[in-house]
Amino acid sequence: MQLPQKHSATGTTIFTVMSALAQQHNAINLSQGFPDFHIDERLASALGRAAADGYNQYAPMAGLPLLRQAIAESFQKRYNVTVDPDTEVTITPGATYAIYTAFTAILSPGDEVIVLEPAYDSYIPNIEMNGARAICIPLSAPSFSVDWQRVRNAITPRTRAIIVNTPHNPTGAIWTINDWNMLADAVRDTDIIVLSDEVYEQLVYDDRQHISVLQHPELRARSFALYSFGKVYNNTGWKMGYCIAPPALTTAFRRIHQFLCFTVNTPAQYALAQHLAHATEPIHSIMQRKRDHFLSLMAHTPFTLHTPAQGSYFQVMSYERISDMHDKQFAEWLTKEYGVATIPVSAFYSSGHDDRLIRFCFAKKEETLEQAVERLKNVPTL
Ligand code: PMP
Ligand code: GLN
Repeated sequence: MQLPQKHSATGTTIFTVMSALAQQHNAINLSQGFPDFHIDERLASALGRAAADGYNQYAPMAGLPLLRQAIAESFQKRYNVTVDPDTEVTITPGATYAIYTAFTAILSPGDEVIVLEPAYDSYIPNIEMNGARAICIPLSAPSFSVDWQRVRNAITPRTRAIIVNTPHNPTGAIWTINDWNMLADAVRDTDIIVLSDEVYEQLVYDDRQHISVLQHPELRARSFALYSFGKVYNNTGWKMGYCIAPPALTTAFRRIHQFLCFTVNTPAQYALAQHLAHATEPIHSIMQRKRDHFLSLMAHTPFTLHTPAQGSYFQVMSYERISDMHDKQFAEWLTKEYGVATIPVSAFYSSGHDDRLIRFCFAKKEETLEQAVERLKNVPTL
């Protein structure tokens, strides 16, 4: 049977591969990005209560008004930006879906989309599934900052969009206002649309501030901003997220969304709407303690730290003092021989570019991090 390939990625996504390998070898899983600790009990019971109270039928296509309103209030409070819950917010089954839907709403065959690599692994397949082509520009290690001259040079009359991600997976780098201004300069006088993947918006460390595309009025007018509840409430398995975009882009987004999944899990929307109103310890403080703890433990291993993560769930480290294996081979070896699973950073490059870096997820219980580092201390140097 001949079936169309739809995209150029081969094999299974690295997150599935490494989590399966971790399970197979009984390794501590610091690969795929998900917390191993419990969610807030109030959120868990709100979900059960919503189902028991009968909120079990289809929610409105754009999402529960209560939840869209709560999101708008949260953006007003946290970023001082006014968002219209009716015409600018759409609830989605996670951010991956929102990214695909935004691309599908705007891309035509033959279009080009600029992607800064390393990049989250769904972007390029999603672009190609819409008949468009990814134009990849590398970010440079160790700071992984954007080479704006290269971005400007990559723009052609076919460029329809650029996708950006701050805080960044896998490097933990965050954008400054200068980056947003440079992007505005680059796309001014074009029809380029911005997809701003901000799933780690609340995970920013060392008193830094996340700057959202929504805070940049010129860019906001041409942007989809994409979010995931999984990263804020430690419930990645709920697969809940949302898209904020100006009314014309939201209309285009919903035009696709209504026929892709139509609407999203109702009890989860109720539970999240209620939970948004609760005062909780900011997730960035909890996660910063984990990052700091992990980094201080890792100082006793042969892995090399170039730059502490400014945000996200992830810390990238070099194994230059341990091996000169390819990173995929190294990650597999580390899982099998030392019982710690990580993600090879080359998986985030379409070319397979390999800087001998691996990504650790530190969104874990302290004891998980400690047990992992005990194992990593045994890894010999060259
Ligand atoms: N974008 C980035 C950068 C991610 O790391 C992830 C993974 N959480 C997503 C999007 C997808 O989020 P979700 O699980 O809500 O689909
Ligand atoms: N975003 C998570 C990561 O980068 C995992 C998402 C996934 O498994 N697709 O590890």
